[in-house]
Amino acid sequence: LGGSISRAIQQMSNATVIDEKALNDCLNEITRALLQSDVQFKLVRDMQTNIKKIVNLDDLAAGHNKRKIIQQAIFNELCKMLDPGKPSFAPKKGKTNVVMFVGLQGSGKTTTCTKYAYYHQKKGWKPALVCADTFRAGAFDQLKQNATKAKIPFYGSYTESDPVKIAVEGVERFKDENCDLIIVDTSGRHKQEASLFEEMRQVSEATRPDLVIFVMDSSIGQAAFDQAQAFKQSVAVGAVIITKMDGHAKGGGALSAVAATKSPVIFIGTGEHMDEFEVFDVKPFVSRLLGMGDLSGFMDKIKEVVPMDQQPELLQKLSEGNFTLRVMYEQFQNLLKMGPIGQVFFGCGNMIRGGHEMEQVFYCLFLCNHSNNALDQEDGDDKKSVVFSMLPGFSADLMPKGHEKEGQAKIKQLDNSNPKLMNESRMMRIARGSGRPVREVMELFEEYKRIAKAWSNMKGLGKMAKKGDMSS
Ligand code: GDP
Ligand code: MG
Repeated sequence: LGGSISRAIQQMSNATVIDEKALNDCLNEITRALLQSDVQFKLVRDMQTNIKKIVNLDDLAAGHNKRKIIQQAIFNELCKMLDPGKPSFAPKKGKTNVVMFVGLQGSGKTTTCTKYAYYHQKKGWKPALVCADTFRAGAFDQLKQNATKAKIPFYGSYTESDPVKIAVEGVERFKDENCDLIIVDTSGRHKQEASLFEEMRQVSEATRPDLVIFVMDSSIGQAAFDQAQAFKQSVAVGAVIITKMDGHAKGGGALSAVAATKSPVIFIGTGEHMDEFEVFDVKPFVSRLLGMGDLSGFMDKIKEVVPMDQQPELLQKLSEGNFTLRVMYEQFQNLLKMGPIGQVFFGCGNMIRGGHEMEQVFYCLFLCNHSNNALDQEDGDDKKSVVFSMLPGFSADLMPKGHEKEGQAKIKQLDNSNPKLMNESRMMRIARGSGRPVREVMELFEEYKRIAKAWSNMKGLGKMAKKGDMSS
């Protein structure tokens, strides 16, 4: 999806005049991409209408960056779709909170219940798991196994067949034990669909959960909306968790689930393991969906860095598509498709806000590759900081406004580091700082070496900035 949308925007930016036709072409292209990404048809149509309302080409004063306005409008619309307007119920530590999980069999409920419990346990909560799935053979064993591994108390039965009874007993027991997060796992299948929803209604009525979380497999495609709506109609769904975001999921289903339940996505599952679980953040998710980073801002900055009289030539090169920035742009597109790096920059906003370590690794790696480049002239640092802070995926607060000097110093420091110094202990330090497995840091480094190779032929933005030589 990212590729198609970026392409559409790119095409539009290549158009000499951005008129009604250019906008329509772009919107149609984006519509196609969104549909392919399993965003529900109605949502896509609404978005298209909204964008057309926002972007009134006639109203835009000359000189405004229309492309940027359109791109921003698309970004905002997608963010709006993922934001139901009100936050979900937030459990309060130390009080009794009952959270019920619903979703079809195979969606990842049981796995996600444990992840959710584990996540909170690490933050000092006292979670407990109740298995109210009496339909699936082995359901209790699975929950028991997960819970034991995470050292979380659990409740269930091999003989009792009434899910309501077990749910109530479990919740009561853990209330007595002063657990503050009592999680009720439910069945996802029944002999008849109607009876599944009836069962969910009964369990909910009997346990009176503070929050019902709908769990959805990200790969279910266009079915997402109806499925989410069906659950919403039987129980008061208040939040959504999207699972299996690590696969080839297109992610569009998340928008449908939010629209159907009018509830926010609170976490995403990114693997089978207990800690492959991330707080969901709308903006990085949309960036990833669009695969664009702040590319238009990046282009604008390039224009700022390049002396005025050289700009026409640069733009010419850009539109011809043989300027190396395109290569760079494509590299970033590829970057988005890469598992570990994509995850690092786009999958988890909270990690980026965390240590910044991963970002720094990448800065470091990128700059090492380019430190012998022409950017190393006297005022090169200025250009670097401006340019790099605009690169897709790099969070702005690595280089906060008013602190550019520190930012530059940081870059300078990273600049002096050498990829050869990426030894095991350094990787371990980075892994600790970023809360990611060492394996991931190593993978990241491997990926870097691959990209660096691909980039070694690149003439370089730096050379251009230095010599202003755009003819070579
Ligand atoms: P349930 O039937 O809804 O309880 O689903 P389960 O929790 O039993 O999960 C079904 C399958 O999906 C299991 O094999 C899980 O390991 C797998 N699974 C769950 N969440 C994720 C995830 O985020 N990523 C991946 N790759 N697999 C997952
Ligand atoms: Mg289950």
